[in-house]
Amino acid sequence: PGTQLPFDPSKKTVVVLGSGWGSTSFIKNLDMSEYNVIVVSPRNFFLFTPLLPSVAVGTIDSKSILTPIRYVTRHKPRQVVVIEADAKSVDPVAKTVTLADETEVQGAVSTTTINYDYLVYAVGAETQTFGIPGVKEHACFMKEIQDAETMRRRFMDCVESAGFPGQSPEEIDRLLHMVVVGGGPTGVEVSGEIHDFLEDDLKSWYPELAEHIKITLVEALPSVLPMFSKSLIEYTESTFKESKIDVLTKTMVKEVKPKSVVLQMPDKSIKEVPVGMVVWAGGNKPRDISVDLMKKMSEAQTNRRGISVDECLRMQGTDGSIFALGDCTASSYAPTAQVAAQQGAYLARAFGQMAHRDRITAELAAAQTAGDNEQAQTLQKQLSRYDRLRPFHYSHQGSLAYIGSDRAIADIMFFNFTIASSGVATYLFWRSAYISTLFSLRNRVLVANDWLKTRIFGRDLARD
Ligand code: FAD
Ligand code: NAD
Repeated sequence: PGTQLPFDPSKKTVVVLGSGWGSTSFIKNLDMSEYNVIVVSPRNFFLFTPLLPSVAVGTIDSKSILTPIRYVTRHKPRQVVVIEADAKSVDPVAKTVTLADETEVQGAVSTTTINYDYLVYAVGAETQTFGIPGVKEHACFMKEIQDAETMRRRFMDCVESAGFPGQSPEEIDRLLHMVVVGGGPTGVEVSGEIHDFLEDDLKSWYPELAEHIKITLVEALPSVLPMFSKSLIEYTESTFKESKIDVLTKTMVKEVKPKSVVLQMPDKSIKEVPVGMVVWAGGNKPRDISVDLMKKMSEAQTNRRGISVDECLRMQGTDGSIFALGDCTASSYAPTAQVAAQQGAYLARAFGQMAHRDRITAELAAAQTAGDNEQAQTLQKQLSRYDRLRPFHYSHQGSLAYIGSDRAIADIMFFNFTIASSGVATYLFWRSAYISTLFSLRNRVLVANDWLKTRIFGRDLARD
């Protein structure tokens, strides 16, 4: 197998799966002159996930947080091949990846198989539903850009239907009950954003409906945001109380129906609650392609949370040709953008070192063949410096989350201490931190413009 792609036979071929935080950071930092690089992803853009909940209520336009992946690869000294396709399977023995282009314009699915010398595997994760009935069918997710757009449409549908003449009070209350499942950062941020939309816009445009809107955040654990400091958890819970966001902890969603959710309450009783919209933010699970790949080396890959890697991100059970990073891996690090981006940058440096090592190895072989012992000895010494990869080291910069009402929370690392900070000043810090980590100047301008536009004109209510 193998497709005809621009190719320098003297270089090794690196296939990168994904265009998310891990892979984009890898591509951005890699010295492309050393490798043939092929990037494969079903979406041809990078998505800045931290601002996704803001897109879901129209504070920010969806295009403002997307960066076409070709913008990242175009300034590279060598051409990078970008293929918009789903990787369907990896063969770690033949060192091939099978891809499928499933876009509608094709009419039929096209598949092809490409070879790799190294595979950088960063396909992320998908949303965990625990097989709970009705979640996939009736809930909105908050993972991809389409999810945020779907949620916005669904939310506006609920509001407009509630305004339809002759609706009963019970039906209005049902349509305007928004339930967010999962008290991790995603669920908390979505709840905060829905609250802002209500306060800033819906109260003036739909005054007769606004007071019927109810937001409930459901969390199975005893508290929301377990990864944040205790004081910040308390601050979030009290801000939500003020904002009239109901937080139901120790409560588990058992089923999502078209017009209701079934809850198991802390006393184990079952309660069915009418809802207009359910947003599911229940955490991560590995994608099917990752599960399939792990099964191919089942002795080394036993962690059900994801792919096990060594300290240099090499997938356990392989010959060192597959590197995995980000949310598709199971490690001691949280599945965050911060970790994935640092791993991508680390791996790019490691690939630079590997290219150096390969070059010295080739020169050494040539010197030995030519019988140049002095040169061979010098090269041997140099080789020993490049032979072992330095392990990945994660440097935690802190955690930040927006909780609505122009307030944010932050656990900021200061040397070895964590400083907990919250409130309006932290919100300004949140904004400046995110604007500065946005991928390009273009994205920064677009997001800043969206914030200004929302402040002056309010959010767009058109249901597109
Ligand atoms: P992703 O960024 O998910 O990228 C995976 C890539 O693989 C995507 O391009 C996808 O299209 C592609 N892909 C999928 N299937 C295939 C396939 N079969 N073949 C090829 N490619 C494939 N983290 C933080 O640190 N701070 C935050 O503020 C923050 N906010 C978040 C807000 C939300 C709403 C969400 C959902 C997450 C947030 N995160 C945050 C977590 C962060 O987004 C993830 O940890 C990060 O995206 C992981 O990077 P990744 O590269 O592993 O995966
Ligand atoms: P998460 O895994 O952090 O939280 C999911 C929550 O859903 C859990 O607390 C779980 O107990 C709850 N849950 C699952 N099933 C449930 C059910 N049936 N009923 C009630 N509750 C249920 O997921 P997340 O919030 O999507 O975050 C995923 C990762 O992305 C995390 O590592 C997080 O740190 C990161 N992230 C970070 C930020 C940020 O830093 N601002 C924002 C979003 C996501």
